Formats: sequence, C-alpha cells, structure tokens
Amino acid sequence: MENMTSPSVINEYIRRSDFFFKKNLGQNFLRDENVARSIVDELGGDREDAVLEIGPGFGALTQFLIQRYDDVTALEIDPFAIGVLTDVFSEAGGLKIVKGDVLKQDLAGLLSDGLREGKKLRAISNLPYYITSQVIIKLLSSEAHFENIVVMVQKEVSARLSALPGTKDYSAFTVLLNYYADVYRCFDVSHTCFIPEPRVDSTVMRIVPLRQRRVAVSDEDRFVRTVKAAFSMRRKTLLNCISMNFSISKDEAKERIRSAGFDPGIRGEILDLPQFAALSEAMPL
Ligand code: SAM
Repeated sequence: MENMTSPSVINEYIRRSDFFFKKNLGQNFLRDENVARSIVDELGGDREDAVLEIGPGFGALTQFLIQRYDDVTALEIDPFAIGVLTDVFSEAGGLKIVKGDVLKQDLAGLLSDGLREGKKLRAISNLPYYITSQVIIKLLSSEAHFENIVVMVQKEVSARLSALPGTKDYSAFTVLLNYYADVYRCFDVSHTCFIPEPRVDSTVMRIVPLRQRRVAVSDEDRFVRTVKAAFSMRRKTLLNCISMNFSISKDEAKERIRSAGFDPGIRGEILDLPQFAALSEAMPL
C-alpha cells in the first residue's frame, strides 16, 4: 500500500481527484510517518479492540491502525477525502469508511457491532481544530465507553486540558474533562509536519475516561449547564452568570449560591470540580 504520509503521494492523489484542502474543515494532513506511527502507538490495547478514527483525511493514521487492529471505523465528513480513502484502502479488510459529521453521529449506534460482540472501544483523531472540545466531550459523554482516546490538538488548547482553577487557561472544558477522565500529555508535533502547514504547533494527548465520574452529581445535564454558566462571562460575578444563564432573578440566584456555601460575588472560574458539583446541586432543574 502507498505511504499516505508521503508528500508526493498526497500531492499525486490531489492531482488525480477533485480534492482541495478545506480550511473550514481543519484540513491539515500529517506528512510525517514517524509521528503518525507514534500517535497510533499511544492507543494501546489489543488487535480485537474496535477503533473509531475521526477525520481520517487521506489515511495518515488509518494506514497504521489497520495493521494493528482488526476492526477500524473511519468517520470522515468530506466526500472528496472519502473518495481518496475508498480508493487507497479498497483492499483493507476490517476497515469501515463512513461518511458523516462526528457531531451529528450516534457514536454508540455506529459502533454497535463491536459493542454487541463485547469489544473494547478506542478512539483516535488528529482533530479538526474548530470542533476540538465538542468532539472530546461528545466521546466522553457517549453511552459507549472508550478505554482510551488519543487526540492531537493545537498546542495552546492542550494547556486548557490540565489548567488549574483561577488561571487564564482554566475553562469549562477543563472542569468537564476532569469530571470525565484522566488526561496525559504525550508529545508535541511541529507545524512543519503537516500539509498545508498550520501556523501553530500541536500536542498529542491521551485521555482515559473514568469508569465512574470523578464526583457524584444528581443531574448531569444540570451540572454541565452550571459549569458552562460559570464561565459564560469571564469578567462577571458568579451571581450574574447564574442568574443570566438559568433565567432566574438575582435574589433567587444569590439565595441558591449561598445555600451551596459560596459567596455570590466570586468569579466562577476559581471553583474546582467538587465545588462545581456542590454548586450544581443548588441550581434549578
Ligand atoms: N487524519 C488525517 C491526518 O492526520 O492527516 C486528517 C486530519 S485533519 C486535521 C482533520 C480531518 O477531519 C479532515 O480530514 C476533515 O475533513 C475531517 N473533519 C472535519 N470536520 C469533521 C466532522 N465534523 N466530522 C468528521 N470529520 C471531520
């Protein structure tokens, strides 16, 4: 099979097909074979596991995934990339190429064969940067449990994944990740390893979903809503954020925040995960 990280092979497929790079789909293709292998190495597990790849592009990671796993589902939104993938991987058994938008896809449904057979699930993606946090949260909150998730993200986004309360990188995304998973930083990847070259470097992260959420909450949707509300207006007090996002009066918001043990005048971004869990319990359903 051709090497799908080789710039000459990538350019040849572009010449032969109607493909062109779409910035709005975050299309920066990996052109470094060693980096692609190392990313796939981080996924671990066994040949029998079922792997979901999000955004395979021309197959830089896919080519190594199919060597290691018997059941790979590659979900790609761009029909032109699907055309190239179908051509390149026509002989590959065990690979299912699916056209779809990851944000609209029912992931448990997509992987239902593997789930029925009791396979362990793993997910991998050189993520399109415009939907990084949505995709990660979607994987973590899916009813399908993933043993391991390996993603490449923009380097500055990786700082948000493990930021501490009160720091500038601490965000709703940080809190939610901490709720669902353990997060490890693997290695950085230079912007020169892509075609076309993005302006910024990237980082490969390994996310290990917890079997049980890190803290208990009685209503997960309300917890997520509370976290998002607290970060919705960075320079406003918790009182303003809660009252605005839950559409309740300031008096009611004040009462509810106080009943959870917090000062309504604080900024939400100083709260840690257990504090957010406590706050959410005092919010309206
Ligand atoms: N995996 C390839 C690589 O490493 O060379 C391509 C990575 S590129 C950064 C991101 C890929 O995600 C592109 O192929 C793009 O078309 C695809 N993509 C973008 N938005 C998507 C979506 N909503 N659902 C599925 N795939 C998407």
